[in-house]
Amino acid sequence: VHAPATVTVTGAAGQIGYALLFRIASGQLLGPDTPVKLRLLEIPQAVKAAEGTAMELDDCAFPLLSGIDITDDAGRAFDGVNVALLVGARPRSKGMERGDLLEANGGIFGPQGAAINAGAADDVRVLVVGNPANTNALIAQAHAPDVPADRFTAMTRLDHNRALSQLAAKTGASVADISKLTIWGNHSATQYPDLFHAEIAGTKVTETLDISPGGKDQAWLADEFIPTVAKRGAAIIEARGASSAASAANAAIDHVHDWVHGTPQGEWTSAAIVSDGSYGVPEGLVSSFPVVARNGRWEVVQGLDVNEFSRARIDASVRELVEERDAVKDLGLI
Ligand code: NDP
Repeated sequence: VHAPATVTVTGAAGQIGYALLFRIASGQLLGPDTPVKLRLLEIPQAVKAAEGTAMELDDCAFPLLSGIDITDDAGRAFDGVNVALLVGARPRSKGMERGDLLEANGGIFGPQGAAINAGAADDVRVLVVGNPANTNALIAQAHAPDVPADRFTAMTRLDHNRALSQLAAKTGASVADISKLTIWGNHSATQYPDLFHAEIAGTKVTETLDISPGGKDQAWLADEFIPTVAKRGAAIIEARGASSAASAANAAIDHVHDWVHGTPQGEWTSAAIVSDGSYGVPEGLVSSFPVVARNGRWEVVQGLDVNEFSRARIDASVRELVEERDAVKDLGLI
């Protein structure tokens, strides 16, 4: 059994937090050998609700849960943190301009980045879930100059899992047989779920589905698959009357678990990480790539062919990230 790890969850009293905390405390985030100390960060008016969740966590008597702290102070929340899950964010309200949204979130993620810089453990890993996740991660990272930039990531794993599920439904394959699918770019409607390298039980999807330009399955790819994955969140709100929470929490667990324990040989996944310039994505942007995790670090899968169709879609999503970065720069948030 290892020493306890400190896991901080922001927005802990929210929907995603509620779906996430019990799985962390049960050992699904860091594995059965790592006890967990939970730190719940909330805004003052939600601290009481977080206390209620903590009571339920106590009542689960999880053997691996070695303590719960609840606070509205970022400095306390991130002191000694090993894994930071930044879930709480300012949602877009009616009539809110993008600049207002970015500014409101800059006021959250800037100070949180600074608190991580000041107090986090040397091995800290940060996953931003709260939207706009990629740019929120960029803001936090910019405020943490002493933390290696590659410790800041944003979540596109839910998009990745949604794409797996849609491809499985289309082909009748099991999700477990699908590999090498990629989400590129921003966690937004411009994201590009890329099937051109995907395999089903080792056979390229392009041998089963004719998704090449003019191919019979191209319309399915462009008009069904891609928009269904990109707009799945809205479809869930429509059906459930509330936004996806358990699937978002599940994806956060998958992301951190793979980051710490490694991705399986011969497979890759998707994560938004600080770009090193790979695939023409400007250095420093937090953009989603095909990645493997080795020795506790994400590495971009190199050398993939990017066809014209994919290039145009990746470029469009990256352009949106550049605009968001420029907007937060102009606002003085980075
Ligand atoms: P949720 O727990 O449902 O969502 C939290 C964030 O995750 C939102 O920004 C949401 O974005 C985002 N998100 C990312 N992917 C998904 C997805 N696939 N489906 C749904 N959401 C996704 O929000 P709640 O309002 O229930 O809870 C938020 C909590 O955060 C509140 O308790 C609030 O008090 C707290 N908060 C805490 C802060 C802090 O700790 N400093 C700061 C701000 C808020 P989107 O809005 O686009 O759906």
